Amino acid sequence: MHSFRYRDGKLYCEDIDLARAAESFGTPLYIYSAGTILDHFDRLNAALAPFDHLVCYAVKANSNRAVLKLLAEAGAGFDIVSGGELFRAIKAGADPTKCTFAGVGKARDEIEYAIDQGVYSFNVESEAELEYIDKIAGAKKLRAPIALRVNPDVDPHTHEYIATGSHENKFGIALGQAPAVYERAAKMRNIDIVGVQMHIGSQITESAPFADAIGKVAPLVRQLKSRYGIKFFSIGGGMGIIYRRALESGSGKWWHDHSGESSAFSVRDYADAIVPPVRDLDVRILVEPGRFLVGNAGILLTRVRYIKESSVKKFVIVDAGMNDLIRPSLYRSYHEIVPVEEKIRPSPPSSPWLGRGSREAAGEGGMEKVDIVGPVCESGDFFALDREMPEVHEGDLLAIMSAGAYGFVMASNYNSRPLPAEALVRGGQLALIRKRQTWEDLVRDEAE
Ligand SMILES: *Cc1c(COP(=O)(O)O)cnc(C)c1O
Repeated sequence: MHSFRYRDGKLYCEDIDLARAAESFGTPLYIYSAGTILDHFDRLNAALAPFDHLVCYAVKANSNRAVLKLLAEAGAGFDIVSGGELFRAIKAGADPTKCTFAGVGKARDEIEYAIDQGVYSFNVESEAELEYIDKIAGAKKLRAPIALRVNPDVDPHTHEYIATGSHENKFGIALGQAPAVYERAAKMRNIDIVGVQMHIGSQITESAPFADAIGKVAPLVRQLKSRYGIKFFSIGGGMGIIYRRALESGSGKWWHDHSGESSAFSVRDYADAIVPPVRDLDVRILVEPGRFLVGNAGILLTRVRYIKESSVKKFVIVDAGMNDLIRPSLYRSYHEIVPVEEKIRPSPPSSPWLGRGSREAAGEGGMEKVDIVGPVCESGDFFALDREMPEVHEGDLLAIMSAGAYGFVMASNYNSRPLPAEALVRGGQLALIRKRQTWEDLVRDEAE
């Protein structure tokens, strides 16, 4: 469920009028809904209630400290992939003993920091890394808790850049090799075997691959439990969200909330798929959702700078660019884009994703196909190509939906563009949680 709705033709996040937010903080501006994040977290926790579990939010999806604080206070653990993420999480009030440390290339200083902080587990991706962690822990005269990340070799049916659970990518240790590596780990002096982990990919839109992967790893879990007394099995993250129809038209209005559903399959479906195969493993179950918790809880607000028409195309040039939100350029991913002020027009939308009922209500014409592009000097700098939109004008505000995950965290200063600002809404409260960078910030750390 997400909390972006039209009220009297104006788009709101919870009780905040987004046009007002844009006036307060400028654009481009990321806006997150605290209520939405907590709703997703609570639902997932409720669905996993049948057994001992811990939801470890994958920090890389959105690492703003205000977002981490919200989840830490709600009781979440954190899945981190760098020392920097652990540092952030601790700064936000996270309990390090609820943090798992993932990633294929952990550096010495990161491992030392994580041992010192007492993380719940290192999720280890190779034998070389295991030896390295053993050595570093030994030098500190401490023990390091570890789980191996195993690769169950399933196809999650997602974009190739974000599929991680097949033999052909760099992640994890093949399932068949895992028992031998655990045996080696058991002989290491400074290593404690505490669990097993897997993560098969991201933006997975069906629940079957999760159940398949769990089914493949379950026999290993049983074996490790009896041999080493492991305490947890992490089944990873990757639950997909709805990008299309995140907001849609109907009942005579151009754009309004459609179903309010955020995830590609319901939390109930997810639970139905994963609960049976894990139920009697008798270990704690960890899940590591990133996108599912924050994806549909955030938008990127942008203002139309210019309209440019050529003989074949109409371009809507906005003030956000691929440096602010790279997903469309990087993965060709689809984001719904809606006007912040709804224009009621007497015309029918021809777009296939508009809701039933809108055609009758809307009348004739009014939609046009446009490319929505940014100011960055790259042809790949676009948010939407040939998109059906109601007519937009210079100065209009647009909301790029579903931008809460892998949005700001992937932003860069390319073209010497300052990083955008971020704001958090909670009910009727609007807080700036990251200032917009200035030109001065761009050069601050450079030698003169
Ligand atoms: C990225 C990642 C996640 C989160 O993925 P989502 O698709 O955002 O849920 C979880 N676990 C690991 C190990 C990851 O690398």
